[in-house]
Amino acid sequence: MIRDYIRKELQAFKPYHAAFRPQKIKLDANESPFALSENVKNKLIQWISNEENIKLYPDTDSTELREAIASFWNVDVENVICGVGSDQLIDCIMKVFLEPGDRVVMPTPSFSMYGSTAILNHGVPIEVKLNENYTYPIDEIIKTCNLQNSKLLILCSPNNPTGNRLPNEQIEEIAQNVKCPILIDEAYGEFSDETMIPLIGKYSHIVVFRTFSKAYGLAGLRVGYGIGAKEIIDAIYLTKPPYNLSVLSQKIATWVLQDEKVNQERIEYLKTERENLIQELRKLPNIRVFDSDANFILIETQDLELSEKLEAREIFVRSFAASEGALLLRITVGNKEQNKILLDALKVLI
Ligand code: PMP
Repeated sequence: MIRDYIRKELQAFKPYHAAFRPQKIKLDANESPFALSENVKNKLIQWISNEENIKLYPDTDSTELREAIASFWNVDVENVICGVGSDQLIDCIMKVFLEPGDRVVMPTPSFSMYGSTAILNHGVPIEVKLNENYTYPIDEIIKTCNLQNSKLLILCSPNNPTGNRLPNEQIEEIAQNVKCPILIDEAYGEFSDETMIPLIGKYSHIVVFRTFSKAYGLAGLRVGYGIGAKEIIDAIYLTKPPYNLSVLSQKIATWVLQDEKVNQERIEYLKTERENLIQELRKLPNIRVFDSDANFILIETQDLELSEKLEAREIFVRSFAASEGALLLRITVGNKEQNKILLDALKVLI
């Protein structure tokens, strides 16, 4: 039986599946509501019409894209690595630092891929519960990391799904007291007022991961990047598969990053929509609405069927079990039209 040969830890493992269906009001995966800008679309059409452009393997080091990222952040190209989404880089960093049985420390609730990727890489996820109001228990995080066999700490800021960021000052306090490598996942960093990227020169054991899937609207292309001191970037390179990013992904991500004015406008639009949506949601009875530094908003409700009721109206959000008798819904901030449809539905349902 094939089953008998499957690694023990994976026998109860559930690989990630999500129904793929085009949805009008899709607010469940924190994607951007914006399509490619005209500028990028025109470059793409011109580029793709040269059939020579896709017959060769891509640049395995994504040099042009890394140069664009380095110039954007004012760092050297050797401080940058690109992956097939930041998902791939999360996998790579675990492959670098974990021997079988090593611990990966992660405050929870957070992005579920940290735990599953740790298990796939023979590691052991160690969850440190966030405080009641989702702030971070700094001392406990430090204590847990300094236990033997803790080989990686992952801090998601702004955190998915709670939406709050971990202030730089607290990250620095952790970094100064923890020896193991620290991954700061800033997948939602463009929507926040703080980033650790300018501080990478100060801490050689910190790496920051970002993605083109959220603020830049390229979730379908799968492009993520890491920024850190040369030492930690070189380490992640040890496990990066060759030719990981397609030539198309490298090209489009480069053009999109250089489209700075459009990006800024779109980010500001979504931040304004986020604040409007929070204000409107707070007028509704029976729900708790959390602050957000990301492009999504977390709400807590006692109506355990609220997610299904929204789905019946073709509005898709992400739901999580909360404490007994409560449900957490993570709602992506969409465009004005989508947000209005969501609010109108909630007004009727709550
Ligand atoms: N980190 C966090 C916190 C995320 O929420 C996500 C996407 N859901 C990712 C990483 C992965 O992003 P990517 O599309 O770049 O793989």
